[in-house]
Amino acid sequence: MKIAVFPGSFDPITAGHVDLVRRAAPLFDKIIVAVGVNSQKQTLFPLEQRLAWLRAVFAHDDKVEVDHFDGLTAHYCARVGARYLLRGLRNASDFDYEKTISQLNHIIGHGLETIFLISRPAYSHISSTIVREIIRGGGDASPFLPEEIKL
Ligand code: ADP
Repeated sequence: MKIAVFPGSFDPITAGHVDLVRRAAPLFDKIIVAVGVNSQKQTLFPLEQRLAWLRAVFAHDDKVEVDHFDGLTAHYCARVGARYLLRGLRNASDFDYEKTISQLNHIIGHGLETIFLISRPAYSHISSTIVREIIRGGGDASPFLPEEIKL
């Protein structure tokens, strides 16, 4: 079974994340969208809310499961039998960051491979960070969010 983990904070999940998962679905037997719980990192939305949105968004995607984990992504992948990580690349700064992490994960994860998809142009300007700024500023973030998220 080809299992991929798509790790992230998903604070909140955006239309860009959803597009990436659906484009990657034909490549794998299963994709686990996994919220990494980092106790150091302050999030806007609580874990339960982020998970509930993920479950609602992917309710009808047969290959997609939703989960969360503490600790290292590579260790989580080993626990669930995933040999692949899925990540998106929007621009050069994503690349610089992701390159290092994927090289580290390949070592820590004993050959764990990161598969990158370049974001589609329509989504490359969308980030959870921008969405949080819009929400904090009282703006309408719905153009960047899956329709299951009602704020
Ligand atoms: P993290 O906190 O690990 O950066 P995020 O939830 O922000 O987690 O993002 C998870 C993954 O989704 C990352 O690989 C990121 O590059 C990708 N991603 C985020 N936004 C988009 C987008 N608009 N299009 C494609 N991929 C995206």
